[in-house]
Amino acid sequence: MIEVKDLVKQYGSFRAVDHLSFTVEKGQIYGFLGPNGAGKSTTMNIITGYLSATEGTVLIDGHDIFLEPEEAKRHIGYLPEIPPLYPDMNPQEYLKFAGELKGVPRKGLPGEVERVMALTGITHMRLRLIKNLSKGYRQRVGFACALLGDPEVIILDEPTVGLDPRQIIDIRELIKSLGKGHTVILSSHILSEVSAVCDHILILSKGKLVASDTPEGLGRRMQRTNVYDMLVQGEPGLLRELLKGIQGLRAITTAPHESGFAAVHLETDEDTDPRAQVFRLLAGADCPIMELQSAAMSLEDVFLELTGRDRS
Ligand code: ADP
Ligand code: MG
Repeated sequence: MIEVKDLVKQYGSFRAVDHLSFTVEKGQIYGFLGPNGAGKSTTMNIITGYLSATEGTVLIDGHDIFLEPEEAKRHIGYLPEIPPLYPDMNPQEYLKFAGELKGVPRKGLPGEVERVMALTGITHMRLRLIKNLSKGYRQRVGFACALLGDPEVIILDEPTVGLDPRQIIDIRELIKSLGKGHTVILSSHILSEVSAVCDHILILSKGKLVASDTPEGLGRRMQRTNVYDMLVQGEPGLLRELLKGIQGLRAITTAPHESGFAAVHLETDEDTDPRAQVFRLLAGADCPIMELQSAAMSLEDVFLELTGRDRS
């Protein structure tokens, strides 16, 4: 459905998107996950034809977004990070106006406006000026706009940012229901959000794709890592130096803890159990272990590791 090949976006000497390639299959929900500044909005703006790429190609259902923008754009509905709403219009006027711009046939337009208002639950707000709507409802108007003309692909840039928890749940439900008949790509910097709604997760870091997997697949990666959390009597910097030499170590963080002890977080390979070694090292340095727990690695840990947590 969508094929992105070797995409590069250069802002002066800064590379916001760095040789990005991926494909999006029909009828699935994709999560575009990455910390702020990872290049999510830039990539979405390129896929939707709002920004030109420095290098690379984007095919939408076989149509090149740069060479055949009209044809390619017809397949896409886009909700940008900041939707361009007109505050002095009401949703009904705005959607009619946007539908005309989008080239929805005039005769079918009133019915189409009704359809997208019903889908996004804004019918009862149709005559209220957009500037007087809550942020949640304004977001729904942007959503309705993306659905005009019933495009096959819906692209949503951080659709839940700035909403309250109730509104977030509603928007997620809406995205899930859209996923039944459409291909959806949504971006987020919140891992739990994409793992809750997406069939497939693409993790972006510094303009590069660092993982492409199902939520279950990412889950399996976590199981290949052992995680330990400890409270130790000792100075965090010193403990870190002591423990750095442990066999099979993948990550270590040390920090002062409210208890007055140092909090130590260790991650090792699946086939390494570092506990005996940790005990001997710390006993030798006269740093008693006050508490030790082996913990399950969370999806957050995987995300942080892939997008570059301090691993020294
Ligand atoms: P995300 O949506 O993942 O937070 P963006 O795609 O907005 O990331 O931005 C990626 C990087 O590109 C950021 O470091 C941002 O500062 C930079 N960037 C975005 N737009 C521009 C621009 N017009 N000029 C220069 N740098 C930009
Ligand atoms: Mg963004």
